[in-house]
Amino acid sequence: MSLVAPVAGQVIPITDVPDPVFAEKLVGDGVAIDPIEQVLVAPFAGKIVQLTGTSHALTLRSDSGLEVLLHIGIDTVLLKGEGFRALISDGDNVECGQPLIEFDADFIAQKAKSLMTVVVITNADTLNAQFKVTPVESVAAKDPLLSIAFGEPVADIEISLGDWVDSDALVLPNPAGLHARPAAALAKIAKEYASAVELSLGDKRVSAKSLTSILNLGSKFGDTVQVHVNGPDAQAALSDLVAAIRSGLGEEIAEPSGPADVIADEPSLLFPKSNTLNWMKGVSASPGFAVGVVYQIQEEVLELPTDRQETAVEKALLADAIAIADDQLETLKTQLDPEDEDKAKIFSAHIELLSDPELLDYATTLIDSGDNAAQAWQKSVTSQVEQLESLDNTLLAERAVDLRDVGNRVLRALLGVESAERKLPENCVLVADDLTPSDTANLDKRKVVGFVTTGGGATSHSAILARAMNIPAIAGIDDQARDIANGTRVILNADQGEMRVNPEDSEVETIQQQIIQQEKIRTLNRTNVDQPAITQDKVKVEVVANIGSVKDAMKVAENGGEGVGLLRSEFLFLNRTTAPSEEDQFKTYRAAAEALGKDQPLIVRTLDVGGDKPLSYLPLPEEENPFLGERGVRISLDKPAMFRQQLRALLRAAEYGNIHIMFPMIADIRELRLAKQVLAEEQEKLGARKVPVGIMIEVPSAAVMADVFAPEVDFFSVGTNDLTQYALAMDRGHPKLAVLADALHPSVLRLIKMTVDAAERHGKWVGVCGGIAGDLLAVPLLVGLGIKELSTSVPSIPDVKACIRALNSQKCKEQAEQSLQFSTAAEVRDYLETTNQYVV
Ligand code: PEP
Ligand code: MG
Repeated sequence: MSLVAPVAGQVIPITDVPDPVFAEKLVGDGVAIDPIEQVLVAPFAGKIVQLTGTSHALTLRSDSGLEVLLHIGIDTVLLKGEGFRALISDGDNVECGQPLIEFDADFIAQKAKSLMTVVVITNADTLNAQFKVTPVESVAAKDPLLSIAFGEPVADIEISLGDWVDSDALVLPNPAGLHARPAAALAKIAKEYASAVELSLGDKRVSAKSLTSILNLGSKFGDTVQVHVNGPDAQAALSDLVAAIRSGLGEEIAEPSGPADVIADEPSLLFPKSNTLNWMKGVSASPGFAVGVVYQIQEEVLELPTDRQETAVEKALLADAIAIADDQLETLKTQLDPEDEDKAKIFSAHIELLSDPELLDYATTLIDSGDNAAQAWQKSVTSQVEQLESLDNTLLAERAVDLRDVGNRVLRALLGVESAERKLPENCVLVADDLTPSDTANLDKRKVVGFVTTGGGATSHSAILARAMNIPAIAGIDDQARDIANGTRVILNADQGEMRVNPEDSEVETIQQQIIQQEKIRTLNRTNVDQPAITQDKVKVEVVANIGSVKDAMKVAENGGEGVGLLRSEFLFLNRTTAPSEEDQFKTYRAAAEALGKDQPLIVRTLDVGGDKPLSYLPLPEEENPFLGERGVRISLDKPAMFRQQLRALLRAAEYGNIHIMFPMIADIRELRLAKQVLAEEQEKLGARKVPVGIMIEVPSAAVMADVFAPEVDFFSVGTNDLTQYALAMDRGHPKLAVLADALHPSVLRLIKMTVDAAERHGKWVGVCGGIAGDLLAVPLLVGLGIKELSTSVPSIPDVKACIRALNSQKCKEQAEQSLQFSTAAEVRDYLETTNQYVV
């Protein structure tokens, strides 16, 4: 039998490999290659009997039983899979020369000890195999490398089996589990004994004399294994093996204060996690209850074919697949609700990408030079995606996401795989690492009853969209949520940020009753939208809307909104390649003002970009801490031309409605004065009338100094999303901190109280436009703190108004005073829950 070289490169004797386990042939005898290419191919036809989870090594078995370990680089197990991509799976039968693993040689060379790739026969002794290395200095992939001759197989030594003796449970101290090196050391010791020796992990039990079998256990640091022995020298074998495992099998063992693995496995004291797998905790991203079945959103791995037909046929196949993708997108567009402009835009953008000449030209060139249609299309898409991503521009990175999406749609069509949207089951709860705003806008509400992400937070963009779409959602949930099997029944209590996994029928029934009850109340609230929000003791609170478009403005009145408390004007500037002109902006603001009518206020916040919201056409410096850098009004004052344009558009539109102007991210009185000065200059130039001017209170300095700001503004609006992030120094989108970054933290409440007190002394009003304005638990407290206006997502306006109508303002004051005395957000929440004045 002969083996071909699995990769091109210099041929190195095994004894020169810079790792004693290979050099001393503990794993077996063989040869090494210092690779000059980046794809490992099969050295003979056979079956993959073991592929490491990290894809840096595999064992291939021939029909005659020969087992060969192919191990890329030295100490590469520590890269945890980074830099490697397996092209095959465990159990696959492969042809000689078939590509098995792709690897990134530059990356591995930088991170690992050596790139030297080892080819070792692991069972030469049992097969009595002898081999010769082809005497050359270097090889190309698939060149002859080894020739093997088999002697008579060594007969198994018969041992009469008595009782098995088991070791205690042993915790593996090896940082990367039993990978090739410790596994070889273990097998070597086991083979020194006549007794049968086995090793078990969970419900897997294998021979400890076989390296491949040990690798197949897929063990990792901290796993518990057991040794089992049976035979004449069982006791000696047992004590030898147990001692060897405990001492790390020749590897340096992980100290508790050492590598990341140890730290990763430690239970956190700071971040509360679910203590049972049936209750998972995150934060509420969008309120509501839902019962559904889990559907895990996975990044799709599409297996590409390696064979190819004639060039003309491959080109025709690609053209057909593009046409199918185009058809699917057109059909999806026609199925949309006519109001669903956001989704329609996404689909249109995808259709446009399908006819991108660069994408197609490159794919065609690749087909001409030998690729099949799928390979060529994927390479072409990947190269454009990489180009876009390398530009370090969030907007273009989002376009890269679209491109990848559409690229996969074409690949699915080429491979005859079902398109993604058809796979969603009815009543499903999506579980994902994170959803992009376009994923969120793209959700099919007929099938998706809720979603859960391990990333994101209560105020991330997908959460804001989920609230606008009225879909219950939880963010920052335990990572274990990703392990729940598809089809598992769950209950979402998104109000509490909790997911119940595998609930009893009785729990489902209770929650379904609750959903029906809530729906009844919501329907009732919706029929009463025109009733004002006046407490039982006649205190009036304005309930207004947070909006991002004219389309939203048109829905305000029908939902009972008494105006707009926050038009996030940056939504008009995002997803474009140039800034909207003054005229464009004027038309938009005018249309929004006219949709509300002359009386209802339209508070437009000037551009709040920077931080996590960059603009491609407004180059900003790279920031170490973008949320603490050039953001909001700082950008407007630094680059005043665009600011002046926006102010002019607003002043002109103010003739058609009740426009108020609000400045974001004000931290210092000088910023307010400069912004007002620019406004006054533009107003004078235009001869326009004055409009009310306010600021967002979202930086603690502005809350603390509210008495200084109050005489110079008409109103304040508290942005609790940012105020919380800056008061607690917790990034608002941070998945782990999300549970702690709670706007009901007493520190945030005290800042609101300081703002209200200062405003009242100067006869000014204070609103809240951050996420808690729509949290029914927080509403009574905000009313008690003296908040006069609550600005919330359009769908939640009827419920907030109904809640206020049920309140007694004196009781709200008591709740507020008491809440300010608590030490933690959890105490405030518990207290509000037990003293609830309005229960849905
Ligand atoms: C806030 O910070 O609370 C706010 C309303 O502004 P945004 O969420 O747009 O930053
Ligand atoms: Mg903000």
